[in-house]
Amino acid sequence: MTIENPYLDAPASQWLRGNLHTHTTASDGAQPIQKVIADYATLGHDFLAISDHDILTDADDYAKLDAHGLVLLPGNEVTANGPHLLHVGADKLIEPAADRQQVIDDINTGTGFTVVNHPNWLVDFNHCPFELMDKWQGYAGMEIYNGTIGRLDGSPYATDKWDRLLSQGRRVWGFAHDDSHLPGADVGLGWNVVGTADRSPAGIVAAMRRGCFYPSTGVTISKIEVTGNRIRIESPDADRIIAYQQVGREFANVKAATLEVEVPAKASYVRFECLGRGGNAAWTQPFFITAD
Ligand SMILES: [Zn+2]
Ligand SMILES: [Zn+2]
Repeated sequence: MTIENPYLDAPASQWLRGNLHTHTTASDGAQPIQKVIADYATLGHDFLAISDHDILTDADDYAKLDAHGLVLLPGNEVTANGPHLLHVGADKLIEPAADRQQVIDDINTGTGFTVVNHPNWLVDFNHCPFELMDKWQGYAGMEIYNGTIGRLDGSPYATDKWDRLLSQGRRVWGFAHDDSHLPGADVGLGWNVVGTADRSPAGIVAAMRRGCFYPSTGVTISKIEVTGNRIRIESPDADRIIAYQQVGREFANVKAATLEVEVPAKASYVRFECLGRGGNAAWTQPFFITAD
């Protein structure tokens, strides 16, 4: 079998942590952009994207501000007329067309990519129905965790829809974001840890596009290693590591900080969840498997 390892190009060091879903007073956030940036710098993040509703925040906007050492990525949350889509590395303001395939296609004419936001928000746990996620083509990822939905209706998690898509052979990366609107409670709930030697906005975007990152709510993954048909995961602050294959089926589960597994013969993908204290977790991206 061939195991596609999205972490193959990760440098030995330089893992950068950041949140890509952030609101300010320019839309419905509670704090002005400069204060939001300062809060994220205090948190110790390396990068941040501001993603106000249907407002482009780009390098020109950031140039007027103190970055406090953060790498600032341009962003927008396409909001009006349909399920919310995050435009990461945004290079232009996208018209929020009701036809979200049109929005994704518009984003793909530029340098950025699309992430489907908080799919399981709202009382029906269905802000973005699976049927749409199944139908749309060309988006890079989806939020498998959105911190702010934790205090709203529905679920902050969406690994259910993720496993369904992956099981159909779709290549969709998982993201964890704050979606912060309020200071304090909303800040530092979820982030992505990106392996890249290039610290620029373009370098971070390129690494995420390749899947060389893992979403986290507080757990660190220190080693991801593929040798032959085996995958080894080391997560020093995990109490438990679980291995999944299609269709969300668990094939290994250890109460330990290290897991080494042989990939099951008929797996089409495998992925790992590292569970730590206080409900914190880290998720690897899927490793896609093809039989030789
Ligand atoms: Zn949203
Ligand atoms: Zn949002």
